[in-house]
Amino acid sequence: MNDLGLPNPELLHARGEEQKVFHENAAQAVRSHFGPNVFVRAVVEISNYCRENCAYCGMRRSNKALKRFRIQADQLAELLIHHRPASVTDVNIQAGEDPIAVREVAIPLIRALRRETQLGISVCLGSLSQNLYAELKEAGATLYIIKFETANPARYAEMESPGTFTARIENIRNLAANGWRISSGFIAGLPGHTNEDLLKNFALARDLPLDGCSVSPFIPGDETPLSTAPLGDIDLTLNCMAALRLMRPGWVIPSVSALNLAEPGSGYCRSLRTGANLVTINLTPSEVRGDYLLYKRDRFIMTEERILSAIAAEGLTASKQSLAEFYSARKVNGSHVPAARDLVVQKPASC
Ligand code: SAM
Repeated sequence: MNDLGLPNPELLHARGEEQKVFHENAAQAVRSHFGPNVFVRAVVEISNYCRENCAYCGMRRSNKALKRFRIQADQLAELLIHHRPASVTDVNIQAGEDPIAVREVAIPLIRALRRETQLGISVCLGSLSQNLYAELKEAGATLYIIKFETANPARYAEMESPGTFTARIENIRNLAANGWRISSGFIAGLPGHTNEDLLKNFALARDLPLDGCSVSPFIPGDETPLSTAPLGDIDLTLNCMAALRLMRPGWVIPSVSALNLAEPGSGYCRSLRTGANLVTINLTPSEVRGDYLLYKRDRFIMTEERILSAIAAEGLTASKQSLAEFYSARKVNGSHVPAARDLVVQKPASC
């Protein structure tokens, strides 16, 4: 890190021994804050309707070939209340930008989960009105996931990312000012991106009121104008992740499913050695998963078995504490001390 708390630009392109040491430092930073604990959440993708037109995303409104769906709240409530995997402590509710799904699916689902379970609840539902944000919060969600995608406003506009760059950043600040915990993020390797763009992502992440941040490799998505663009580089993405971890050792940094597409078989596990401390089990009903077209129609679904074996392979353990509990403990204490019961290392398995 330099004097401004930003990563050294050369390190973002490190390879070989230099990269190994860099990643080990990031892994050490996350372990010294969180011990061997990795948060385990579930995601449910409730709607693929989207009023936005992001060039990188298959759910963009111009994709007329996509069969659109909205799931019933009670179907998901039944699944999450009675049939969720035992390791799940939190649920993330995600969708295209679809205010109807927010009203008709997300809010009733959050109310049911709040009534019936202790699950922490996060949402990733895009840029919405202040009223909808307030209703989501009142229903019981505490963490909002809203990525800034790229810190370069011109690239943001060129990619037709949601609304305007200025409004997205204002949204992030307003949500935080209204008591939400915020996780943001950016895409590494967006077509046309420069080294300068890459560094700007860190300066923006550093300056925003965030509790966590992700970095995802760019995936040339099926049925998008960028389907033939080059895939984001896995090493660059993991170097960005390590740099985020060293910049903010106390952040929650997710291991995103796109890592499996950028480096099939090992991308996901490598992120657990590079500073990630949150994994996600996909519980979207199988009949609609293929139409939640984030990247490719052929999705690599992270099941509980895959997630737990990836965690165990790295000698880590599934956190018993939910993300929501972690954040509220931090609010009171100012820093997080892992509970002794969480500090049990499982026997390594294969990844
Ligand atoms: N609609 C909501 C929003 O805009 O925040 C949430 C869902 S959106 C589909 C989730 C995230 O997927 C986006 O913020 C973007 O970073 C990511 N994404 C979509 N397509 C991608 C691609 N081809 N490569 C990498 N990330 C992508």
